[in-house]
Amino acid sequence: MRLPAQLFFDGAWRNSASGRRTTLINPATEEPFGEVAAADVADVNAAVESAQRVWESGWRDVAPGKREAILHAVARKLREHLEEIAQLETLHIGKPISDARDEASLGARVFEYYAGAVTKFCGQTIPVGRGGFDFTLRQPMGVVAAIVPWNFPFPIACWKAAPALAAGNCVVLKPASLSPLTAIKLGELAHAAGLPPGVLQVLPGSGSAIGDALVTHPLVRKVSFTGSTGIGRHIMELAARDLKRISLELGGKSPNIVFADADWQRAAETSPMSVFANTGQDCCARSRVFVERSVCEPFVDRFIAATKMLLVGDPLKPETQLGPLVSAAQRATVEEFLADARQRGSRFACGGGRPRTKGYYLEPTVLLDVRKDDRCWREEIFGPVVCIAPFDDEAQMIRDVNASPYGLSGSLWTNDLRRALRIAKAVESGVLSVNSHSSVHVEAPFGGFKQSGIGRDLGMAAMDGYTELKNVYVAE
Ligand code: NAD
Ligand code: MN
Repeated sequence: MRLPAQLFFDGAWRNSASGRRTTLINPATEEPFGEVAAADVADVNAAVESAQRVWESGWRDVAPGKREAILHAVARKLREHLEEIAQLETLHIGKPISDARDEASLGARVFEYYAGAVTKFCGQTIPVGRGGFDFTLRQPMGVVAAIVPWNFPFPIACWKAAPALAAGNCVVLKPASLSPLTAIKLGELAHAAGLPPGVLQVLPGSGSAIGDALVTHPLVRKVSFTGSTGIGRHIMELAARDLKRISLELGGKSPNIVFADADWQRAAETSPMSVFANTGQDCCARSRVFVERSVCEPFVDRFIAATKMLLVGDPLKPETQLGPLVSAAQRATVEEFLADARQRGSRFACGGGRPRTKGYYLEPTVLLDVRKDDRCWREEIFGPVVCIAPFDDEAQMIRDVNASPYGLSGSLWTNDLRRALRIAKAVESGVLSVNSHSSVHVEAPFGGFKQSGIGRDLGMAAMDGYTELKNVYVAE
């Protein structure tokens, strides 16, 4: 398989202006396997400026039916290359191949959905009294910067690029430095499918080298970011200077709430993958489990039994459920949390060590007796670690759930309809699932309350975020 190893913009492969390259390491083997060009500030300026020219000279005025057809062609092209996309994803971040295949097809599905949105997203006519006529337009913004993380590189790149393009913008996409391959592939395939040169620019490179230049470029009208809360805050500060539009999808510390009246056995069996999937590197990871005390002990037993059944190993094997962490640095960060838990006297019900000698692996780890002011309880760990705690009183449990500065996702297990509705209203999170652990539906809005972010990806809500709303009044 040929590695997509260069910048892809203005419809062509390019080396970076500086000639700098980043070495990629396979996290499952710790072996370097290739190099990718790393964009620098001169490349950012060139890519943004030509995207602006392409936007002004035609992309914004492409007829809706034509834009719809192009996005459908992109989706078809992605579907023809799902296996290649999945292989690349697994190679650079160690994601189990079965998950990588699902996420490749999710990316294609996102393009199909937003191809349909092109012709259905529109303004309103508004009655404003006698003597005039009022209508609204949803207008594209111009050049949108999309900055994405390494944990779900391909689907997140798609769910930012597709609605931004559908709304009539040009996109400059910056993948994380650990995961450039599938973003570059997306640029190449979209171009091959008929997206005009300059409409989707892909700039692999490090955030510290080019992030600020991209975010502050005066021609970038909107920054759509997914990543850590710290970098999100930094981007918001930069964007404040010229009131740039932003949407931020940030960290999480999502609750998994289990009542005794629920099918708690099924909850216990399915909950390990709600936190350990993607080796815990998931912004929606259900990393705090609240279990009603009367069933907490048997719940924990089943949870641990199910955890021990998980297949940790070579991400290229189709049966593997957990691969390595993405990097040595990420594993070191998670191990600092574990050291803190040990020092604070938490109980390790299972896991805590390294299961293999090669690769950045870590065992799925279940912590009990974690105090509410411990780091493991409060902070996003972004690794395969869960805290399970009993609760007695519903109102106090909700206060504990909402004490987190985050509010991204969550699960609630109960068969009591009134309780389900009451708690669904009370939990401070942008996404909640009842008797399930699903968080992402292409058709529905996804995003966070509080420090988990601002704005929404996916669904029609994303189209709001890639357009300006204009009101026009015409006197009769
Ligand atoms: P990160 O914040 O380190 O990096 C995200 C992206 O920002 C990368 O492309 C990085 O290169 C770039 N970046 C870094 N410095 C920048 C700067 N100064 N200006 C502009 N861009 C810059 O996050 P990560 O480690 O790649 O991803 C993990 C984090 O992402 C976790 O906190 C996780 O919760 C979050 N996340 C959130 C969601 C969500 O939808 N809410 C989804 C996935 C991941
Ligand atoms: Mn990072």
